[in-house]
Amino acid sequence: MNLRQLGEVTDNTYDQEHTCSENLFPTADRIVHCISSHDVKVDSWQLHNIHYATAEEVEIGEAEFEGEITYHSMIVINYCPFCGKNLNDHK
Ligand SMILES: [Zn+2]
Repeated sequence: MNLRQLGEVTDNTYDQEHTCSENLFPTADRIVHCISSHDVKVDSWQLHNIHYATAEEVEIGEAEFEGEITYHSMIVINYCPFCGKNLNDHK
């Protein structure tokens, strides 16, 4: 999922993503810079935790299809929890 698609799912707009090798699950834990949320201008780095359904979860009836987003949470952060970088330093 690219930043534009993530924006469509959340009705937000993101202009940057922080990636680093210390993050062992980069497709599940994404650090993005949000510039607009529901048409309101914002300026915040966010950690998104996204779970995509596995084939097993579809089989036991917990999801409709493989890859379906079945869990998504977000918290606003200032530092990368994986490498410790100050995210506001490199806007
Ligand atoms: Zn990092």
